[in-house]
Amino acid sequence: MENSTEQVLKKHGLKNTRQRNVVLEEFFKSNNALSQPELEKRLKGEMDRVTLYRILSSFEESGILHSILDRQGTMNYASCNASCSAAHHHDEHLHFNCDNCHKIFCLDVKIPAVNLPAGFQVAQLSLTATGLCDTCS
Ligand SMILES: [Zn+2]
Ligand SMILES: [Zn+2]
Ligand SMILES: [Zn+2]
Repeated sequence: MENSTEQVLKKHGLKNTRQRNVVLEEFFKSNNALSQPELEKRLKGEMDRVTLYRILSSFEESGILHSILDRQGTMNYASCNASCSAAHHHDEHLHFNCDNCHKIFCLDVKIPAVNLPAGFQVAQLSLTATGLCDTCS
């Protein structure tokens, strides 16, 4: 059983507000990443664009959501791994951007560690595959 939205907010030190719960609920219901324009459509009338933007930023900062850029350069957000926190994100999994439905999926495929030349320090590592998702293929 998935944690409730209230529990997730509490665990990440965020105040429990109705709007935060509403946004988080959308991520619990979706099995693919969501962009801000997509969320605006779904939450029409619930909150303005600035509020939504602030909620998404606070979720990303506190380790509830991680962001993925799609091929069009639009930022998408997806639920984090349970071990993510404000200090560290652990979302080193493969992302899949479908060429047909344009959805982004987090896949349970770990990105292998990369060996970089001396002096380079990785802060974030991302890998996005493109092609057809399991619905479109
Ligand atoms: Zn994360
Ligand atoms: Zn697809
Ligand atoms: Zn992901």
